[in-house]
Amino acid sequence: MSDDDQELGITESKMHNTGEWYAEVVRKAGLADYGPEGMSGFIVTRPRAYAIWERLQGFLDAKFKDTGVQNAYFPLFIPESYLEREKDIVEGFDPEVAWVDEAGNKELEERLAVRPTSESIITPYISQWVRSHRDLPLRVNQWCSVVRWEATETKPFFRTKEFLWQEGHTAHATSEDAWTETMTRLDQYESVYEDLLALPVLKGQKPDHDKFPGADTTTTVEALMPDGKSVQAGTSHHLGQSFAEAFDITYSDEDEEERVAHTTSWGLSWRALGALIMTHSDEQGLVLPHTVAPTQVVVVPIWQEDTKDDVLEYAEGVADDLDEAGVRVELDDRDERNPGFKFNEHELNGVPLRIEIGPHEVDDEELTLVHRPDGESVAVDREGVAETVRDEFDEIYAKLYATAEETLDDGVREADDRADILGTLGQHGGYVKAPWCGDEACEEPIKEPMAAEIVMVPFEDEDSLVGDGHDETCAMCDADAERTAYFAKTY
Ligand code: AMP
Repeated sequence: MSDDDQELGITESKMHNTGEWYAEVVRKAGLADYGPEGMSGFIVTRPRAYAIWERLQGFLDAKFKDTGVQNAYFPLFIPESYLEREKDIVEGFDPEVAWVDEAGNKELEERLAVRPTSESIITPYISQWVRSHRDLPLRVNQWCSVVRWEATETKPFFRTKEFLWQEGHTAHATSEDAWTETMTRLDQYESVYEDLLALPVLKGQKPDHDKFPGADTTTTVEALMPDGKSVQAGTSHHLGQSFAEAFDITYSDEDEEERVAHTTSWGLSWRALGALIMTHSDEQGLVLPHTVAPTQVVVVPIWQEDTKDDVLEYAEGVADDLDEAGVRVELDDRDERNPGFKFNEHELNGVPLRIEIGPHEVDDEELTLVHRPDGESVAVDREGVAETVRDEFDEIYAKLYATAEETLDDGVREADDRADILGTLGQHGGYVKAPWCGDEACEEPIKEPMAAEIVMVPFEDEDSLVGDGHDETCAMCDADAERTAYFAKTY
């Protein structure tokens, strides 16, 4: 192997060494670098990853705008007195807040928090903007970064101290309206995963003891990674009236009565990129669906000196047709690299579809298409290439989705006592659903030995193990089971 080949190759095993493999893919596929020394937990997002983030942003932003959300931007800092107005937020984020107490060489009169989330600075402004029921619902979203000084080990995109996200904040006249909003956003998050990232997710709510600080209900989408760990992939919170009360969002109703509003907030971070990379990629490198791939098709001409002109001309024509049809295409006509090297490089970088063109393809007016995820190769007519490529994209997307769906379907198991939960989690990972009384104490016997927790409780009427001939008592204690809990290890 030459040095170049070694540099391109992924050496870690996805199955046996998932963490190291993931870090290697992130680095070698040019997605991210670690931050400067002394700043562990920070990453530098390189153009390839940022381009994926921009596509995700475009997809979700369009959905938000179609459903009444406007973008805005609020300051990076939150005065301490603002943060303190909602006590749950202060307590919930206390150990993770980064503070600024000096600037311009002077001590500040009041410390400023670097936002860990922006309820405490956005809600006071919503309060000024809402006067009457006619101002409701009010919805703002911001695309920004937040800082949470988490102690847990860093994993690029999955868990970093500063991360990119969007945070939406809304106010409503009634609790029902706020609930509808909460679910609208959760459904949109589900759609990001299912319709853009080829990743099925589970939807449900967090147990009460793991809600967002100050929230009535935290809803979540959870994705199962191939190593059996669950990722909290996006959260949408019904905040009830706690923030509206703390920050005084009141409105006058139709009868001129003063009422307190109901609020929501919802956030999806670049953790989605982590889930995308971890799920689909392999030991050749990054695998992406066409929906987010910065380069969707690479055309690789394969020539000898005597065929070079014909092959290149034909390849250029194909690339031009695709470009005109709006496909993100790259023609790799570098002289100094051989086709094998090019194949490896584009595989590493996650280009979903390769078109190989040699003298045979030119003679037969054909093209050889190769799918990145599994190397499947098909010969197709040159004519109508743009349409053919779109069909192939859909096929590749369906393959990626089907594999991820299989992981999820196979990854949900049932258990009805502690030993069974621990044994099943230990052997298979994934989700173990069990009847649960609702008490946090009954999570401990799993959390303590296994570092697994209740990641999700399905919504009341869905997927219940409680009632209908199932075990009526909690898997951990003798109390009646109230809900079905999904236990899993997490990222
Ligand atoms: P939260 O405001 O805590 O509900 O977080 C919103 C979403 O951001 C979560 O559902 C996670 O997917 C994501 N998230 C939370 N912490 C991090 C982190 N340290 N790094 C990347 N994403 C995060």
